[in-house]
Amino acid sequence: MDNTVYSSYPPQLDPAQEAYLVTTIKDWAIQNGLTVRPQQSFVPRETDPKGVLATNAPVTLFPSPFPRSCFEEARALQTVYNQLYAAITCDEAWLGKIMEDLIDVDDFISHLWKVHLAVQKEGYAQKLSLGLYRSDYMANIPSNASASLKQVEFNTISSSFGGLSSRVTSLHTELLRTPGYPPHPLLDSSVPPENTAIETLSAGLAVAHKSYGPSKSAPALPLCILFLVQEDERNLFDQLALLQQLTRVHKVPVFRLQSTEILNQTSIPSSNSARPLIYHPPQSPGTQYEVTTAYLRCFYAPSEYKSERDWEARTHLERSAAIKCPTVLNQLSGSKIVQQVLAETTGPDHLAKFLAGTDPDTISRLRATFAPQYDLSSSGRGRELALNPETAANHVLKPQREGGGNNIYKTDIPDFLRSIPESDWKRWILMELIHPPASAKNVALRSDGEVLGDNVISELGIYGTILWDQEGGNVLCNEQGGYLLRTKAKDVNEGGVATGFSSLDSIVLF
Ligand code: ADP
Ligand code: MG
Repeated sequence: MDNTVYSSYPPQLDPAQEAYLVTTIKDWAIQNGLTVRPQQSFVPRETDPKGVLATNAPVTLFPSPFPRSCFEEARALQTVYNQLYAAITCDEAWLGKIMEDLIDVDDFISHLWKVHLAVQKEGYAQKLSLGLYRSDYMANIPSNASASLKQVEFNTISSSFGGLSSRVTSLHTELLRTPGYPPHPLLDSSVPPENTAIETLSAGLAVAHKSYGPSKSAPALPLCILFLVQEDERNLFDQLALLQQLTRVHKVPVFRLQSTEILNQTSIPSSNSARPLIYHPPQSPGTQYEVTTAYLRCFYAPSEYKSERDWEARTHLERSAAIKCPTVLNQLSGSKIVQQVLAETTGPDHLAKFLAGTDPDTISRLRATFAPQYDLSSSGRGRELALNPETAANHVLKPQREGGGNNIYKTDIPDFLRSIPESDWKRWILMELIHPPASAKNVALRSDGEVLGDNVISELGIYGTILWDQEGGNVLCNEQGGYLLRTKAKDVNEGGVATGFSSLDSIVLF
């Protein structure tokens, strides 16, 4: 019954209506910073050698329908999820036991774990830890059944698109009010829910900044937040939306620093046992800032660690007194394998342990968002499901990686597993596919101007922030707010906007 909404949506566009929407959105995007740097395949470097151009972010023409009950549930559970991942991060022994198995077979996880061990040996200089999270879901609507909320993954590092997603909500809201769309019952009666992602994420960073306390340097230095970013980041306007909010509203100085420059432009004075992280902005050589909060929009993928120097830079941040968003341990808590262990239906009740004090009904609701997930150990059911082409077709195989493009889907799974050594299988987890509505449709305006109408799948992300004391587990601040809807063509397995598969979207609730 929930599926019927999708069959007549969105309204048909005649060529003039489509042209009007595309032109309006193109111009609106540039005017309002709903933008990305163009891909080289669209604008080659020779055409724009100075890198001055920007284009619209990929965006849908219409907001997509999403079941109100699922949206409300995702919002209601976000602070519980925040608390869960903070508690997991505090339980180093539990996390260590899970990572132990991976360390022999996964070089990236092993390297991250070594960074943690090295800093732990010296002693962490900062006990506060900041999480800026995004919990990703799909509405699971098998035919003739009602919708339920199922989690795709939980992101603990570089949870992006909060900046741009707020703007897509504004864009669709303005188009609804203009009115820019042909009449349709769903569009006549509603506007997208308010999207406070920019406010929420910036407020999280601002609370950490404040909680850092006074400068640890003598004489005292001015304080700042540092965004650590990738080289050639195309999605910088998303980051700048948070930076602007912090500067304008919270009056906090913020700088962006490429990860390759960390060791050149920051230092930790060896004479100061508090280990403040000092930033030396090249644009004002006489001034130094002390970094209260190191916000990572980098260092989540192995490809970003090109040499030992990058690992040195990560260790340098980790051992500093800056509040990390996230710490290495918090990054590791977001591994797919942790999600799989939490979803196990036999053995110890991890949720009850980590959420002690939360009422059992809330814990059950959170548990209900898990799709079935399996390890590939020889004794487990995962192997059986993954190797049989019939059952594999309803699953996705995931490694311990972030950022898209890493998974193996459906019937590719058995052959893929047989092509790698069996000893490597423990790097992967198997997850049952979520089934979003089959008949959903939308039209996307891509960053190169192409307009694509298609059957689509939408993925909802809810943003949350939490600041806690890693030593005592005490939570200083726990908030949720703002969302991301990403929509991709139905026959595409992978997701992700930065990877080029999805478009930014907003929501009409039904
Ligand atoms: P990543 O860390 O690479 O973003 P995800 O777990 O989010 O990894 O998987 C990437 C994409 O694969 C998702 O955006 C989604 O489109 C698809 N996907 C992942 N898990 C499932 C699932 N259980 N059911 C359906 N699609 C999934
Ligand atoms: Mg994802």
